[in-house]
Amino acid sequence: MGLEIVSDDAPVVATNFIRNIVIKDLQSGKHQAIVTRFPPEPNGHLHIGHAKSICLNFGIAQEFGGKTHLRFDDTNPLKESDDHVQAIMEDVRWLGFEWDALLNASDYFDQLFDWALHLVERGKAYVDSQDAETIRTQRGTLTEPGIESPFRQRPVDENRDLFLRMRNGEFEDGAHVLRAKIDMSSPNMNLRDPVMYRILNVPHHRTGDKWHIYPMYDWAHGQSDAIEGITHSLCTLEFEDHRPLYEWFLENIPAPCQPRQIEFARGNLDFTVMSKRRLLQLVQEGHVAGWDDPRMPTLSGLRRRGYTPEAIRAFWSDMGISKQESIIEMGVLENAIRSDLNERAPRTMAVLDPLKVVLINYPEGETEWLEAAVHPQRPELGTRQVPLTREIWIERGDFMEDPPRKFFRLRPDGEVRLRNAFIVRCVEVVKGEAGEVIELRCEYDVDSRSGMPGANRKVKGTIHWVSAVHGVPAEVRLYDRLFTVANPLGEKERDFLEFLNPDSLQVIREAYVEPGVAAGEANGCYQFERLGYFTHDGIDSKPGRPVLNRTVTLRDVWRK
Ligand code: ATP
Ligand code: MG
Repeated sequence: MGLEIVSDDAPVVATNFIRNIVIKDLQSGKHQAIVTRFPPEPNGHLHIGHAKSICLNFGIAQEFGGKTHLRFDDTNPLKESDDHVQAIMEDVRWLGFEWDALLNASDYFDQLFDWALHLVERGKAYVDSQDAETIRTQRGTLTEPGIESPFRQRPVDENRDLFLRMRNGEFEDGAHVLRAKIDMSSPNMNLRDPVMYRILNVPHHRTGDKWHIYPMYDWAHGQSDAIEGITHSLCTLEFEDHRPLYEWFLENIPAPCQPRQIEFARGNLDFTVMSKRRLLQLVQEGHVAGWDDPRMPTLSGLRRRGYTPEAIRAFWSDMGISKQESIIEMGVLENAIRSDLNERAPRTMAVLDPLKVVLINYPEGETEWLEAAVHPQRPELGTRQVPLTREIWIERGDFMEDPPRKFFRLRPDGEVRLRNAFIVRCVEVVKGEAGEVIELRCEYDVDSRSGMPGANRKVKGTIHWVSAVHGVPAEVRLYDRLFTVANPLGEKERDFLEFLNPDSLQVIREAYVEPGVAAGEANGCYQFERLGYFTHDGIDSKPGRPVLNRTVTLRDVWRK
């Protein structure tokens, strides 16, 4: 197991303060083994930020031979659903992790209730019958103490009776709450008699109609950790101020153990939003096609876009874990997928904006199968067969009738090399009635073919192409950033939706791809030479009608 990792000849693992705490706790014998948990609320799909927490929690347990629980923090039935539960499980597995136990905060509702009663009976919790707004105004501020509720001194028996009746469903929503009795003048606002339970007469996706009161996050979380024997409860920095409350609860109930809460900085990315509330708004208002829209920062969106779990894990591993808040440039995430796909993606050719080229000295009706490398840096991946015919497609942008001096692609009477084939010379430009170029007629140089004496003759440009006979029409979707500004939430007085990028999706209805790509599988990845990395859309791509998503461009086009 992982303790040897600290020795000199062990593999180098980038360390961080949490990992160091774990090592210390194992070496000192405080814990024989560690148990971590990933605790999503099933109120939306997971996003790339959650992946940081998943990689941390599962990764550290894996490294030290510990266990990780997937626990649904399902304490708010108003916002949660089983659909999200299913999607979250799929995403965690896709990222490459398997939980040792699948649990729910709702599994502990009975135990939580009993412990709340324990606090009530010891005068450490009381029923407040004021409305939420009044309670809020009494909380005070950072500089002023809060005001004690008139119900704070309610006798234990009365609290007990009311709390039982709250559970039994005798009251309307909002009629009462149960509050911990801690300190209304604490400098830490979280200790000013926090609400533990609220009345919600709504069914829960797992417990059905059984409950009429539901625990608040702070009351459910630490207790769930203790029930499960979590040793290190890793959460994001905004919970730092909640830690004294986390500890107060555990100290005041007969908890089976004392988990340790440790906070780390959230992962943030620019040019996107990452709170489920905002992502939900994008989905509900139709700004995107769903949680798995390839422009979304969700794991399902990234998967559909063509991101690999390996790239996401490598990305978070490179970013490290610390207490320093930061915003990572989208370009860094894009580099992670680029370098992963550069290794694994087979090379192929596709034409997105087709212009017909006729090779006038090439025999009609003939198909030749040219051999081309699947991956120039990885000969072990072998070769593929690229069909060549008299008529081919090239990229419209690779021809200019009257080009500037530094244009090294095709021009009238100019030469260019067709990738994997030979050199062609443009001998005639065919135009339509409006003067638009509709076809080029080219002559190919037989001597420049592979194996011929002129095979290495140099011309300035090489362009990609696809056989017009064998190329398969495909829909291609090009994605750009969802927002036009780095921080769409930065300008408080403006709605983040005002910064949506109107050009974040460009659909090309008729591109042409090599037949091997058309026959490829869902989520198979490709490099379209000179164009970027692409993948079959996992939902819309069908045999005979491929739909390909551009995962990322070949180079960072945003960095100037
Ligand atoms: P959101 O605001 O996006 O809904 P959340 O924290 O409310 O985020 P949860 O489902 O409660 O979402 O989060 C599950 C776990 O993932 C928590 O431990 C949380 O701290 C962690 N987490 C959420 N967002 C990030 C992030 N951006 N970086 C790292 N960890 C995160
Ligand atoms: Mg939350």
